[in-house]
Amino acid sequence: MSDSARTGAADIDANPYKPDFPLLAEHLDLTFLDSAATSQRPSTVLEAQSRFYTTMNANPLRGLYALSVEATDAIARVRSQIADLIGARTPDEIVFTRNTSESLNLVALAFAPSVLAPGDEVAITIMEHHSNLIPWQRACADAGANLIYLYPTKTGELEEAEIARKIGERTKIVAATEVSNVLGQRLPIERLAAAAHENGAIMVVDAAQSVPHLPVDVSKLGADFLAFSAHKALGPMGVGVLWGRAELLERTEPLYTGGEMIDSVTETGAVWAPVPQRFEAGTQDAAGIYATGVGLSYLVDHVGYPAIAEREAALVSAAMRRLAELPFIDIIGSPDPARHHGVISFNVRGIHPHDVASLLDMQGVAIRAGHHCAQPLLAWLGVENLACCRASLAFYNDRHDVDMLGDGLETVWRTFH
Ligand code: PLP
Repeated sequence: MSDSARTGAADIDANPYKPDFPLLAEHLDLTFLDSAATSQRPSTVLEAQSRFYTTMNANPLRGLYALSVEATDAIARVRSQIADLIGARTPDEIVFTRNTSESLNLVALAFAPSVLAPGDEVAITIMEHHSNLIPWQRACADAGANLIYLYPTKTGELEEAEIARKIGERTKIVAATEVSNVLGQRLPIERLAAAAHENGAIMVVDAAQSVPHLPVDVSKLGADFLAFSAHKALGPMGVGVLWGRAELLERTEPLYTGGEMIDSVTETGAVWAPVPQRFEAGTQDAAGIYATGVGLSYLVDHVGYPAIAEREAALVSAAMRRLAELPFIDIIGSPDPARHHGVISFNVRGIHPHDVASLLDMQGVAIRAGHHCAQPLLAWLGVENLACCRASLAFYNDRHDVDMLGDGLETVWRTFH
């Protein structure tokens, strides 16, 4: 039985996880509420990074000696682990990149030209992180295609009428985030995918904010491509994943060329290696990939998505209840805690979010403030200064963190009044 099952995951007065996270365990005066930007990492992940370099360090794929084979096998095992985790048909559908941004650029700049022609449409939502927005602006500009935005209600609900109005026979690609990094809202990806497929379009899912919180199954979602980052899911920085349906990856040109991604090279040209190696030019972050597997094991096998959901729901409800008691706080998005997957964005009336974040920091509370790489969304929502505060919670937070946020905001308000 996992720790969470023993203690009851929703018991946010207890925190069985904190001792596993050295940065949190050693900084008990820190309230870390910025996990949507990057998660903290358990010691098993930190140890794995160092274990790679102390016990299996060699350049994967290059050597025929045992150490290099061990490094190569370590990467292959993580590829299989991720394939199993997200329901890929084969490990070859898993491409390692540096992060979600690179994964999405690969789809938009290397796959999209094979399907986009002048006058075609790419449909995205106004809720996209810039990583799932700017690559599509570029892809559309390059192809002479049109970028179409889907708008939610002001509380972040994407309604059926909007989907039906915007996705049609000219649509070739639909790209959407599963969970908004500003509103915390989960989008109806299955419905968007169905609309895309009814029109012969492909569905690209940005799962950067869902893998840390929700089970992700590419076939249940109806995805054709899906991207996420290890560093938001307990893994190290610098490792990203792109999953693509095998037949689509086969049609995708490599974005980068060089070592490891070829079958053969002559003076006049090169034959690409099979998928996925053709997308992994140069030396990969092998230690990072190895540690990514360990981070995902902690997330999925040790804690488990049911416990994560239960605990995060309790944390978000407690935090939103506390914020609702503060008359100077305006929540951005839905007032319903069930709609916020770990993320609560808000503003303190009349106080710039950067001042709020700085004053909270002086009290040991780390939140994010700014545009959250979602400027078009904040502009559309009419958020003043295109900036807001964001507290993002993970299963390793507890009631003390929620109290520190509430108390800290009261101090911010008193400082200005
Ligand atoms: N997509 C979403 C929804 C995000 O929240 C983020 C990061 O915050 C990204 C993409 C980009 O992730 P990365 O910086 O790891 O490329």
